[in-house]
Amino acid sequence: MRALYKAERGPGLELRDVPEPVAGPHDVKIRVRKTGICGTDLHIESWDSWADQNLNPPFIPGHEFVGVVTQIGSEVTTAKVGDLVSGEGHIVCGLCRNCRAGRRHLCMNTIGVGVNRDGAFAEYVVVPESNVWLHPQDIDLDLASIFDPLGNAVHTALSFPVVGEDVLITGAGPIGLMAAAIARFVGARFIVITDVNEYRLDLARKMGVDAAINISTHNLADTMKNLGMKEGFDIAFEMSGHQSAMPVILSNVGHGARIAALGLPKDPISFDWAKVVTHMVTIKGIYGREMYETWYSMNSMVQKGLDISPVITHRFAASDWQQAFELARTGNCGKIILDWS
Ligand SMILES: [Zn+2]
Ligand SMILES: [Zn+2]
Repeated sequence: MRALYKAERGPGLELRDVPEPVAGPHDVKIRVRKTGICGTDLHIESWDSWADQNLNPPFIPGHEFVGVVTQIGSEVTTAKVGDLVSGEGHIVCGLCRNCRAGRRHLCMNTIGVGVNRDGAFAEYVVVPESNVWLHPQDIDLDLASIFDPLGNAVHTALSFPVVGEDVLITGAGPIGLMAAAIARFVGARFIVITDVNEYRLDLARKMGVDAAINISTHNLADTMKNLGMKEGFDIAFEMSGHQSAMPVILSNVGHGARIAALGLPKDPISFDWAKVVTHMVTIKGIYGREMYETWYSMNSMVQKGLDISPVITHRFAASDWQQAFELARTGNCGKIILDWS
């Protein structure tokens, strides 16, 4: 089969022929139709310090996908050949304290599809039956292919009750944009998003935020004044991983604010911890999705009209993956889809 392959330690990927994966007794084999390109895939391709510390090539990257089940293992009980499915990209141990307590997203032995084992940038991918998410047959395939990052956005946006609250989002990448749409859908009052990329700020406006602010040229005090806000944001989603984001958030939230942080900084960052204490702020780290509560939530919201379609801006054939990766690196895009059909 064709696969985008990480052959060895160092920069680059290669589209080449590799053997098809074999499904074990508890696995399903999926013919991949579409995949999303994630920031993680860019790290894998460029081979930065994170990649060097965390990856062991050779492997096939890719963890955002939709496809059709073509084969099931002998012990599989629910998935069927012909099912249209995505996969939860985190495979957990099932045996640690958190797993046994039902908090599977907190498993310390998590293995990442397309990170620590072969992923979905290929014609076929194999995942355990437990990780399969069944879609209705009529779902839009581009949308279905990004349920994994949509799940990150849902996990973040539903971390704290946002009904009637004012929400600040730092970072208008695809997950920040989707989180804005979700916060709107579930009833936030004002939603303000910051970035330094005008293309992404324009996308945010299309997704119905109250203000999309270029933080390199504008400040949030003016924005809050224009909106009639007096006491600061109630909730913040940190989606950028940028070192300046937490200081900006802490300067613009009210007392008792709640912060869900998903953006991964490259290096340790510093901010005024005294503000966290005196403003009695709650900070929650977000990594992945709750298994599988997040999946049920996003399925329900999509079914009842949550529209994240503006976030999907570009589509490429898998053979044009290099062009797609180059575009992703510029940041002048939302989500980019690769077609493997
Ligand atoms: Zn991802
Ligand atoms: Zn576990």
